[in-house]
Amino acid sequence: MQITLENLQRSYGNLHAVNGVSLSIPSNTIYGIIGKSGAGKSTLVRLISLLESPDGGEVYFDNNRVDNLTKQAMIDRRRRVGMIFQNFNLFTSRNAEQNIAYPMEITGMSKPAIKARVDELLDLVALQGRGKAPISTLSGGQKQRVAIARALACNPDILFCDEATSALDPQTTHAILSLLKEIQKKMSLTVVMITHQMEVVRDACVQVAVLNDGKVVEQGLVTDIFANPSSEVTKDFLAHLVGLDESASRQDKMVQWSKKRGTYTLRFRGDTTDQPILSRITQSIGVEFNIRAGGVQKVGDVEIGTMVVDISGDEETKIRALEALRIAGVLVEEEGKL
Ligand code: ADP
Repeated sequence: MQITLENLQRSYGNLHAVNGVSLSIPSNTIYGIIGKSGAGKSTLVRLISLLESPDGGEVYFDNNRVDNLTKQAMIDRRRRVGMIFQNFNLFTSRNAEQNIAYPMEITGMSKPAIKARVDELLDLVALQGRGKAPISTLSGGQKQRVAIARALACNPDILFCDEATSALDPQTTHAILSLLKEIQKKMSLTVVMITHQMEVVRDACVQVAVLNDGKVVEQGLVTDIFANPSSEVTKDFLAHLVGLDESASRQDKMVQWSKKRGTYTLRFRGDTTDQPILSRITQSIGVEFNIRAGGVQKVGDVEIGTMVVDISGDEETKIRALEALRIAGVLVEEEGKL
């Protein structure tokens, strides 16, 4: 199911929470929408999932307009949209299988059919044998698995994940993202992930849109955006991810050799990572690179190398070196000029 948004608008009083968003979310993929708190993500997801109507603009699923459906048509359409949330939204009075059964009970499915589907779904989310477990006895990751099973109960064609891993530790986040990727493929779902975590985008999404102040400031393939971010907001997200920030999880931290931070951040993607670009430039231009820190991370199947360096030499030589780096396909960011 392809989702197309055309110039979506939603204001609360004078506040333009979603301010002219146009996006094309391809079918059968995982698409990320990232933004800081207050960027308008939740409002946007309420509009796309048909929980709220826009003040202006249009929402299409494939080529069918869905933001102006009649009440009953809207309810039927919403049934084929699955949603999972940060706080799971499970019924604590029901056990795991009763939670999963709930949306099927509403549609009036027969008890034996529900039972068979619940077993299938428990298998799908790797919770075989845990159907009778009260919700309070499950870990965060297991609760999210129950929520995923419930969201998929009525065979949706779209799954929205609203900060679905924000309350989970890194290992559990990793396991849930792997599960979502596997399910996306199995069910040919269109998955839309709303997040403020660049790690989630890196590890799970194929394409991403960056939202700021209710507007899309950047969109495209995750690998392209990681290698060549154009907006301030995206650069800021990436700086926290690959930077020397203490809050970054261990595997994202760079190895730092010297106390000084270094002036230039160089980003090498995919096929540039195994070429001796720096030594070639050293020889041809006569500059020296003092490498302060470095690391490599995988974005999807592509490796992006990051290196923080100082460049020796006079201004003109430095400019020539920077130009040579750019020509070689290395993205250069200068500290303070992010
Ligand atoms: P995010 O999910 O990215 O944190 P939100 O969509 O929740 O952003 O919010 C975007 C802006 O809209 C915020 O300034 C928020 O205070 C405002 N907002 C969201 N929902 C409402 C509402 N129901 N009433 C008033 N203001 C709202």
